[in-house]
Formats: sequence, C-alpha cells, structure tokens
Amino acid sequence: MVTPDHIRNFCIIAHIDHGKSTLADRLLEITGTVDKRKMQDQILDSMELEREKGITIKLAPARMKYTYHPKTPPPAAHTPRLPTDGQQAAPLGRGAMSAGSPPPSASLRTGLEGGEFVLNLIDTPGHVDFTYEVSRSLAAVEGAVLLVDATQGVQAQTIGNLYLALAEDLKIIPVLNKIDLPAADVPARTEELVKLLGCEVSDVLTVSGKTGQGVAELLDAIVSRVPPPPDQSARPVRALIFDSAYDDYRGVVASVRVIDGAIKKNDRVRLMATGAEGELLELGAFVPGPSRFHPLSALENGQIGYVVTGLKDIQACRVGDTLTLRDAPAAEPLAGYQQAKPMVYAGIFPKEGSDFTRLREGMERLKLNDAALSYEPEHQPALGYGFRCGMLGMLHLEIVKERLRREFGLDLVVTVPSVAYRVHLAGGGQLVVKSPLELPDPSRIASIEEPWVAVDIVTPVDYVGAVMQFLQERRGTYKTTEYLSPQQAILHYDAPLSMVIVDFYDRLKSLTSGYASLNYEFKEYRTADVVRLDILVAEEAADALAQLVYRDQAERIGRRIVSALKETIPQAWFVIKLQAAVGGKIVAAERIAALRKDVMAKMSGGDVTRKRKLLEKQKKGKAKMAELGAGSVEIPTDAYLSVLRRD
Ligand code: GDP
Ligand code: MG
Repeated sequence: MVTPDHIRNFCIIAHIDHGKSTLADRLLEITGTVDKRKMQDQILDSMELEREKGITIKLAPARMKYTYHPKTPPPAAHTPRLPTDGQQAAPLGRGAMSAGSPPPSASLRTGLEGGEFVLNLIDTPGHVDFTYEVSRSLAAVEGAVLLVDATQGVQAQTIGNLYLALAEDLKIIPVLNKIDLPAADVPARTEELVKLLGCEVSDVLTVSGKTGQGVAELLDAIVSRVPPPPDQSARPVRALIFDSAYDDYRGVVASVRVIDGAIKKNDRVRLMATGAEGELLELGAFVPGPSRFHPLSALENGQIGYVVTGLKDIQACRVGDTLTLRDAPAAEPLAGYQQAKPMVYAGIFPKEGSDFTRLREGMERLKLNDAALSYEPEHQPALGYGFRCGMLGMLHLEIVKERLRREFGLDLVVTVPSVAYRVHLAGGGQLVVKSPLELPDPSRIASIEEPWVAVDIVTPVDYVGAVMQFLQERRGTYKTTEYLSPQQAILHYDAPLSMVIVDFYDRLKSLTSGYASLNYEFKEYRTADVVRLDILVAEEAADALAQLVYRDQAERIGRRIVSALKETIPQAWFVIKLQAAVGGKIVAAERIAALRKDVMAKMSGGDVTRKRKLLEKQKKGKAKMAELGAGSVEIPTDAYLSVLRRD
C-alpha cells in the first residue's frame, strides 16, 4: 500500500530534440527500473515512426521506485554571471505566466530521508498539434521537469509547454541538458531560465542525459520539490483518462490518474462524458520492458496506471474523460473535458485506384488508435476514390500519411490542406465547411469565419526584421516582443491558421538560417472574406482544383493556377481555355493552342498525301471530342499536383 505522500507524479516538457527521451532512459536506468545491459535507447517511444522521427506521439507512462538519500551536487563548473543586485527578474509571457504557480525554489522537504517513493513519469507528446493531449497529461501530474538544451537555450515549444504547465499549476523544475557538449553555455542559458521563470539561479539543475551526470540529483529534486498528490482517498471515485489506445488483445487500454478514491480490479465503471460502461478487467502500472503491463489488484489514490475496460471502441474512451464507478458515481466529472476537434483537412487518395480498399482498411485501423482523426469518403474525377480527412494539425497529417505509407505500403496523393471554415447561413444556422465544394451559394451565406491561432516565434534578434516581414505577408497581427536575453527574442502574433499550415515552418526556418522555432495554439474563430475560386478547363469546372481563398488574393492565385495548368496539360486538337473564376466572374485566363499548327509545321514541304491524311485524322479527332463534350480534356494527375502543391 502506497500512500499519496510517497508518490510523486511528474512529466518532462521540452522543445523537440532537447533530450526528453534520452533523459527518461537515464531515469529508468538509475532507478533500476530497466536493466542497463538490456537497455534499448528511447524506451518510452514505442511506435516505429516515433523512433525514426524522434518525436513522441503517444504518451507512455512509466512507474519507478526510488529511495531518497539526497546527494550533494558537485560544485558547478561555471558560476553563472548574473545580476547580484537582489532584483528578481519579472517572469515573461502571456497571462498564464504571471498568474501561474509561485516560482520554484530549492526548499527541501524534511523527513523524506530514507523513504521509498513511487515516481510516475509521463512522457508528453512534444508537438503543437497535440496541445490538448499535453494539457490533459499535465493535469495528471503535480510537477514538470522543464528540460532545455544548454547548447540551444529556450525555444518556442519550451515556452508553449511551460504555459500549459503553469496553467495546470505544476511545480516547475528547470533543468539544463547536454552539459557534456562543448557548445553548452550554462551561464547564458541559466540566465534565460531565470528570466523566463523568475526563479533563482540555484533552482536550475544541470544534467547530461547522455552521460548520466546530474541525473541522481534531479531525482532528489523531484522527490523534494514536487508536491505529493493531495490525499482524496475518501471521495467518490474519479480518474482522469489522459491517454487511450487500442490494443489487439485487450481492446481499449486507457492511461489514468486516480484523482479521487481508488479503483480495483473488477470494478464496474462508467465514462462520464460518453456514458460508456465497462468493467475493469485488468489494471496496473506501466513498467518499460518486453511486457509494458504490470497487473495490480488496485490503483490507489494519487496513482497513475492503466485500465483495461473491455471497451472495443476508442471513441467511447476519450482523452480528458472522467472514469467513475457505475454504482457509486461521482456527482461531477473532472473539469476541462473537450473533444479534440480537427482543424486541418486534406484529401488522401491512393495513387493507384486499385489500392482504395487497402486505403480504407488503413484508415479504419488508424482510427482505432487515434480518436482525433476523422475521415469520410470523397470522390474526385481526377484522383478517383479516397477520403477527406480531418486532423489536429500538420504534424498529425504527416503522421497519418507516413503510417499509411509504411504500415500499409500505400502510395498516396495528398491534396493541399485547408482549414475548417464556419459558415453562417443567411436564413440562420451554421455549417462547417471542410472542402471548397461544400461552400453554399454566396446568396445563402451571411458570413464566413476561419480559425486563428496565437503564434510564438523564438528567434535570434538579428532575424527579427525578416520574421516580422514574413508574418505580415502571412496576414499575422503583431502583438508583442519579449527578450529572453540580449540575443534572443520572442515574437507574439495572431494569425489565420490557413496562413500557417502551408509552407510556413520551412519558410521560417530558411529565413532564419534554421534558428527560429515556432509554437502555435488555436485561439478563436474570426470573420474572413473568403470566396471559392473555381478553375475551368475547356469551360468545365475541375472540382479537384477549386480552392477557398481570400477575396483579395483570388486573382493572383487564379493566375498562378492557370499558368501552371498551361505548362502541364497536353495540347489537343482544339484550343483549350483555362479559366479561374469567382462566382461566375473570370479573374484569370489562359489558352492552350490547338495542335494543328505544330503538326503542319513539322510537315512543311512534305508530301501532300501524308498531309491530307493527317488533316483527316485531325478532323476525326475533333469530331470525337465534340461528341464527348469539352469536358473530355484529359487533365493529367501531374497537372493537379503541380497546382495542389502550393508555391
Ligand atoms: P527528444 O526529442 O526531446 O525526445 O530528444 P531525444 O532524447 O530524442 O534527443 C535528441 C538528440 O539529442 C539525440 O540525438 C540524443 O542522442 C541527443 N542527446 C540527448 N541528450 C543528450 C545529452 O545530454 N548530451 C548529448 N551530447 N546529446 C544528447
Ligand atoms: Mg523523444
């Protein structure tokens, strides 16, 4: 029996590549949770794709045991040169920053010496698309290790994650990582963290996840600084679902934090948001290793672990939901549940039409494990049968695409992603428009709204001008600039999501020689002057090429598309008109000349009979086309792609 005062629940938050997974490996090793000799790098990242891309998609909790015998850290290699005038730097950032928990301090709790502690580590997904999942996993813990690469310093996602952690009132332990590297600048990076958090220099720990240096001291700090979960064992059961995955053998397996009461095997349970009911067929702790599941008879108050509910559908067991007892339910669910909503839509088609069945199987399979993915069948004349998929953001789309490629061997065509527009109808009511063809006739539209995001960009000050110019091109609204140090700035903007999803990150990176980092978060819907740009080929609308664009950009984009088509559509026996139109009005036009001239040109001076034969053939061709109607101009898939892959 473990009581809450001997439990510490924490997570590691970091910008991508700052060493979260590596540090997690060292923690598991030093606590003896995994055998060093059997250690495989990055134990917690389970999916193949995660390993390869070095990203964490799914949360993998781990339980460790640790006996607290505080170590005295060795004297710091460098003494940070920081202002000693006693002035505490004001914390930076948006509202949450100053409203959050008090600054961390190295106060040691007494009476912990020799105690054996259960440390529950949650490895959170480190990407902006999964903000909601991150926030739910943060709600499952009391403390966060804020890990910063000492060679790079604070980056945009360090800050993004920090906001979320402060919003959950977590105790923050600032840690500089990779101090084994010669390029590690501990004094400068310490200064940044002190500025960011308003903490003391002595609060900042230094570690190397690679060599293990400083990791034991970090474990001590977790025990002494992170508060134990409050004892709420007497209350009616409430457990927070902070992850949910489908397992072939067990059905839905959920990661839970027991907030109130305790749960035990065979309890009959209910999920408060979805109303689904099940039985706790198995529960226990996650322990890294060949079998990640370590069954127990109960999960006590304050604990983190897994439950097998017998549910077959992940839709019934969603991240953020509250698990309670069917026969003694809690009155209120835990706060903060929301269903993850797709923000970005794209058409996914198989390159080979015959692969459609496999694509459908693939989508069904992914959906089992990904409650945030949505899809519906779509047919496009040029691309055949496929699906319109809704995703949380661009990385989510990337993951879906990659998994379909790898796990199902599919060759795919993916259309330019677009955002979900909210259309208010003239007669009242509203509509979510996920594809240009769903946009009602303009006469039925009262107004259109689009999603906006709050964007944070961390960049060296030398690039501030270039970044600001770029954000202006992307219709961003400037908010504020803050300085992490004399060299490093944070720019805060609001921008339409549609301007951030296509080709934004790559452009930002190339503008700043790779130094800038980006974080964004959904903010609100705002009115947008958006129209449908139709593309007509031989006077027939090519549906797959229609796009929703800002009215004032329609002409420019239309011109670009028709000229791209002119390059890719082969000549025919007749003139092909290429037009871009908004509400029936042509805004750009091109034409592809008929083949005739070319054919005859090649024949100059040639023999007359061959010439006549050709002309006859050509006449026949024309007649055939006329019969079939102008729509029979063949638009090669390449032509679509040249248009759909924007800029
Ligand atoms: P994550 O994206 O935060 O999970 O980062 P990883 O743990 O995958 O680490 C990113 C890269 O940094 C990998 O190549 C690691 O080997 C390397 N790395 C992590 N920690 C350290 C460290 O303390 N020292 C050095 N030299 N490299 C490290
Ligand atoms: Mg990782």
